[in-house]
Amino acid sequence: MYLERRTAPGAPALARLPRRLPNAEGAWVDIGGEYSHSYPGGPSGQRDLVHIRWSGPGDHAATGDLDLSLSISLCPPAIAAPPFQFTMTQPALVRGYEVVIGFETHAQLSTASKIFSGASTRFGAEPNTQACAVDLALPGTLPVMNRGAVERAIRFGLAVGATVAPMSIFARKNYFYPDLPKGYQISQYEIPVVQGGKVEFLVDGEPMCVNLTRAHLEEDAGKSLHEEFHGMSGIDLNRAGTPLLEIVTEPDLRSSKQAVEYAKALHTLVVWLGICDGNMMEGSFRCDANVSVRKPGAPLGTRREIKNLNSFRFLQQAIDYEVQWQIDQIEDGLAIRQATVLFDPDSGETRMMRTKEDAHDYRYFPDPDLPPLIIHPEWIAEVRAAMPELPGALAERLRAKDGLAVYDAAMMTASRAMADYYQAAAAACGQPKLVANWLMGEVSKRLNSQDLDITASPVSSAQLGQLIARIADGTISNNAARQVFDALWT
Ligand code: ADP
Ligand code: MG
Repeated sequence: MYLERRTAPGAPALARLPRRLPNAEGAWVDIGGEYSHSYPGGPSGQRDLVHIRWSGPGDHAATGDLDLSLSISLCPPAIAAPPFQFTMTQPALVRGYEVVIGFETHAQLSTASKIFSGASTRFGAEPNTQACAVDLALPGTLPVMNRGAVERAIRFGLAVGATVAPMSIFARKNYFYPDLPKGYQISQYEIPVVQGGKVEFLVDGEPMCVNLTRAHLEEDAGKSLHEEFHGMSGIDLNRAGTPLLEIVTEPDLRSSKQAVEYAKALHTLVVWLGICDGNMMEGSFRCDANVSVRKPGAPLGTRREIKNLNSFRFLQQAIDYEVQWQIDQIEDGLAIRQATVLFDPDSGETRMMRTKEDAHDYRYFPDPDLPPLIIHPEWIAEVRAAMPELPGALAERLRAKDGLAVYDAAMMTASRAMADYYQAAAAACGQPKLVANWLMGEVSKRLNSQDLDITASPVSSAQLGQLIARIADGTISNNAARQVFDALWT
């Protein structure tokens, strides 16, 4: 079966179709097997075809015919009447260019000790007090895999619906840098522990799905300190050997906004799973954004990688700047060179750090000191049985149970702390929708203005619940409730 879409000459190309789409009721529906799109009309994009191979039984066809958004109806037997419909809106072009972004995120795993040694991972210790002989690969030492790090990788793999590899391989990535005195980083290369999977989230209330390429285990390097020393750099090796899960996406994102929402959803997920503390200031969750631009319908452009973005705001600013910079270059007739760049928050600009190495420059080879990582199905089953309810599943349940709108349910599950607070307050008053409104209104407003997390709210969930109960039974008005809330807050 196929879906054909015609576009006016020069109209933007269709973004990749997500594999899951919402139906008319907003529930997720799998659109099945494979899809691809091609541009028979050439790069001018006169006509493009979307092929969807349906994985379910029967023969189904769908056609759509629109300019900027695609609307098709599918009526597979699995989903009876009413026919399910979706609309895909084209992400806005920037100066006539389509933005393409893929992410590599380093999530520091929350183990007490390092990935291959017993040294502590505690943050903030005196420099060079927590790097042991194994972390530095001194002669005569051997690395030993930390079971807790593998367990966390499995938990992540299960949460994103990925394949947890029954066997994966550790490899040495060789490079010179002052913060890596051993001369190589232990990582995974050809066979990573987590393969595939996807992350789902909302962008402006619309569901979006990003496919993951892989997630692999690796050790962190040390840190160079440039500010504390005049004319010198300090080296702190405490971080050497800290366990990381590097999570890599397909180049599925089409705007800085989508990128930020993806990063937020991934952050929520790893913290929710308890595999990462999510502390971005301390570097526990660092994003590298690979950015390129292209004319609609053209092949992927050359990417530049913006390294180590440690705040959602910087992430958006950095991508926006980078996109404009790349378009300027191209419009000036210059080619983009593959490179690694840094974002300077003070100037708001990205700056080239180095031209990009290719994988073959690293001379990867299997680490002779580490056997293959074998994960038995029993272990995966054990981890699966101990998995918490995931934010997406909880959001679905809250929608069904409490009648929350899609967006509201997503907000109430933006973090575990928020979900706990919401559920406690809703239980205290039996008014879930009012609780959600208050949390997204008054409470968020105050938390944001004071830069506080919900866990630091001076008004407890029980207090908010009681207050809302009094509004609901007509004892006090909304205005009076707000005054009481003010008094409780201060
Ligand atoms: P590496 O940076 O390790 O050399 P990869 O080739 O695996 O490696 O790609 C890393 C990231 O770059 C992935 O997230 C991928 O989606 C993204 N990416 C690849 N090609 C492009 C492109 N043309 N534009 C934007 N992102 C891209
Ligand atoms: Mg990279």
